[in-house]
Amino acid sequence: MNNFKNLGIEQKLIDSISELGFENPTPVQEKAIPLVLNDHSDLIALAQTGTGKTAAFGLPSIQQIDLKNKNIQTIVLCPTRELCIQISKDLISYSKFLKAIKITPVYGGASIENQIKAIRKGTHIIVGTPGRTKDLIKRKVLNFKSVKRVVLDEADEMLSMGFKDDLDFILDTTSENRQTLLFSATMSKEVRSISKRFMNDANEITVEKLNSGSKNVEHHIYNVSSRDKYATLKRISDFNPEIYGIVFCRTRRETKDIASKFINDGYSADAIHGDLSQSQRDDVMSRFRDKTIQMLIATDVAARGLDVNSLTHVINYSLPDDPEVYTHRSGRTGRAGNKGISVVISNSRESRKIKSIENKSQIKFLKMDVPSGKDICSKQLFKLIEKIEKVKVDEKQISPFLPDIYEKLNWLSREDLIKHFVSAEFNRFLDYYKKSRDIKSDNGSDRSSKDSSKSRRRSKDFENLSVNVGRKQGITPIELISLVNRITKSNEIEIGSIDIRQSYTIFEIDKTITKSLIKSSSSLNHNGVDLKVIVSKEKIEKKYNREKSERRSKSKRDFKNKSRSRSRNRSESKGRRKFRG
Ligand code: AMP
Repeated sequence: MNNFKNLGIEQKLIDSISELGFENPTPVQEKAIPLVLNDHSDLIALAQTGTGKTAAFGLPSIQQIDLKNKNIQTIVLCPTRELCIQISKDLISYSKFLKAIKITPVYGGASIENQIKAIRKGTHIIVGTPGRTKDLIKRKVLNFKSVKRVVLDEADEMLSMGFKDDLDFILDTTSENRQTLLFSATMSKEVRSISKRFMNDANEITVEKLNSGSKNVEHHIYNVSSRDKYATLKRISDFNPEIYGIVFCRTRRETKDIASKFINDGYSADAIHGDLSQSQRDDVMSRFRDKTIQMLIATDVAARGLDVNSLTHVINYSLPDDPEVYTHRSGRTGRAGNKGISVVISNSRESRKIKSIENKSQIKFLKMDVPSGKDICSKQLFKLIEKIEKVKVDEKQISPFLPDIYEKLNWLSREDLIKHFVSAEFNRFLDYYKKSRDIKSDNGSDRSSKDSSKSRRRSKDFENLSVNVGRKQGITPIELISLVNRITKSNEIEIGSIDIRQSYTIFEIDKTITKSLIKSSSSLNHNGVDLKVIVSKEKIEKKYNREKSERRSKSKRDFKNKSRSRSRNRSESKGRRKFRG
C-alpha cells in the first residue's frame, strides 16, 4: 500500500496528520494526491463525505502554497457554514507545523467586518460559502486574479442548494490558469454542466461506485402502518441503547412534532430545522457533536454541513422523494472505517420509492421485524447489568456508609439483592413495555416467520436447545441469558424465544454456536444443579401467539353471542312492532 510519503506528501504534513491518527491514505487520497501534486490538469473526484476527501485536496494544496507570496492562492468553496468551519479547522490542523500559513473561513451569518479584517491581514487559503464569497468579491475585498487552485467541495450540494449563479460569478472572476478540483458525491446533470463550462480535460476518479451507498452501511427497512411509525422509532432507539444518529423528517413541522414527543418521552434528543436562529443551531449541533445528545431530529436542509463521523444510525422517518437524497443521508453513517446502519421506517404505500432507491443506489434493504417489548427489555437489562459490572467503585468514599447498608440489606439473599437493584432501575421500562402492544411489521408475502416478536434479521438461523433448569430451580429469562453469556464468555450471542417449563427450559439460539455451547455448558452449575444443555426436539410454546389466538377466538365468540342477542332483540322488537301494528 502507498503511504503518504510515497504519494509525495512532505514530512511536516506527515507529522501533523500522524498526530491525527492518519497512518495510511484512504482510497480518494491515494488517487487524488499524486494527480493534484504532479499534474496541473483539472480533477473531478466522485467521493462522498467521510471518505477523507478534505485531506485529498487539503494536503497537496497546503504543500504547494508559496509562503512568501502573501496573495490568496487556493479557494475552497463549500455549501454550508458548518462545513466551511470544519474544512478550515481541518486545514489548520494539517498545517500545524507550517506556522506561517494563513487560512481564512468566510461564511454568512457572522460579522463580515471581522472576515474583511482577517483577509486584509493577508491569507493564503480562503474557505468560503458561495454567497459570502461573492459578496466579498463585489466589495473588492477578495480578488482571485492570481489564484492557482479552486476546490469545489460537495459540488452537488452547492448546486442543489441554489448556488449556481454565485458559483458562475466566482469562477468567472477567477484566474483562467487555475487548476479546478471538483468533489461531489454524485454526478448530477447540474454538476456535469458546471464541469463542462469551467473545467478542461479533467481527470476523473471515483471512489465509491457512482450513486451507490457505502459498503460499510447496512440498509434496514421496517414496514409498519403509519400510526405505528413513532412507536417504531422509539423501539429502535430502545433496542440500541448506544445509538448515536440522525432522524430525518420531511418538513419542519414533522421535525418539531417528532422531536417534542421524543424529548417528552425521555430520549436524549434535540431538533434542528429552519425555524432556529443561528446560535440555537450552533448550540444543538455542538451538543450533538460532543454526544451530550444521542439523537438529532432534522430536515435535510438543516442537517447539511453537519460533519460527524461516528454515527451508528441514520433513520429515515420519512423517505425523501429523490433517491439521491437517500444516498446522502445514508452516507452520513459508516464513515472512516466504522460500520453504520441506515434505517427506513415506511409503510407499504411507499414500496415504489423503496424500489427506486434500491435500483438507483444499487443497495438491498433488509426487512426487519420491530423489536418486541421482551427483546427490548432484555437488551436494556443487559446494558444496565454491564454498567453495574463496569462501574468504578470508589472504596474510600463509600466505605463509611457500607456497614449500615450491609446491616439494612442483611435479610436479602444474593439473588434477591440482585433482583431488587435491577428492578429499582428498571421497573419503569418493564411497565411501559408490559402495557404496550407489540408492533406488527408488514413485510409482505415473503414473511418467513409469523412471530412478530423477534427483532432479528429473518435470515438468522436459530436452533432449539434445552437446559435442565426450569421454574423449580428459579430460572428467569434474564438468568438464562446471563448463563449463556457466562458459558460463551460473550454477550453478543443472539437468543430468540425462551420457554421456561417446570424443571427445564427450551430456548432458541444462534445455530452456529450450538456445538460449543453444549460442550462448555457442563462446567457450570445453577443453584447447585450441574448444567446440561442438549438439542431439543420440542417446540417453543409461542405464548404470544397462543394468547393472541385465544383472545381472537374469545372476541369471535363474544361477537357471535352479541349478534345472536342483537338479532333476538331485533326479532323481539319486530314482533312487538307487529304486535303493536
Ligand atoms: P472527510 O471525508 O474529509 O470528511 O474525512 C472523514 C474523516 O476521516 C475525518 O474525520 C478525517 O479526519 C478522517 N480521515 C481522513 N483521512 C484519513 C486517513 N488517511 N486515515 C484515517 N482517518 C482519516
